[in-house]
Amino acid sequence: MAIAGFCSQCGENAYLDANWSCPRGHGWNAVSGWYDTDTGQQVTPPWLQQTAAPVAPAAPVTEPVPEPAPAPDPAVTLRRLIRDRLESLNLAITEADGVYSASRGDEYECTVAVDGTNGRILLWERLRAGRDPGVRDAVRALAGSNWAVRIALRRSDVAG
Ligand SMILES: [Zn+2]
Repeated sequence: MAIAGFCSQCGENAYLDANWSCPRGHGWNAVSGWYDTDTGQQVTPPWLQQTAAPVAPAAPVTEPVPEPAPAPDPAVTLRRLIRDRLESLNLAITEADGVYSASRGDEYECTVAVDGTNGRILLWERLRAGRDPGVRDAVRALAGSNWAVRIALRRSDVAG
């Protein structure tokens, strides 16, 4: 299509060249009122259309879907219960790789591990003096019927 426009330098309408410029050497920005000479419709240079292009709508904000909470690992739950129980027996507790060791001064010490894979609790303990704090009974009570309690002869059997 042929484009014409009003050149402000020439003071008249002119057929424009491929650069939308006046054929007498005046640049496109000297021209206004562009129109299609075939249809008479107003036209706008493409580079001006780009600046006027509507802003793309913002991406819709999607609420993050929370991951469903995983079912608690029964071994982890039991480990926590045992720890709380040891604490209530007034034992000093240390933990290493999920294995709890508890002690009462130099008189008593024990190590407990929950073996979730085999469904058992390994307990090693040594009483040197004073009263038995009752860890065995406490652990057996927590184990219920779901967990087997194994009394280990050596601490290394528990702590791995
Ligand atoms: Zn001109």
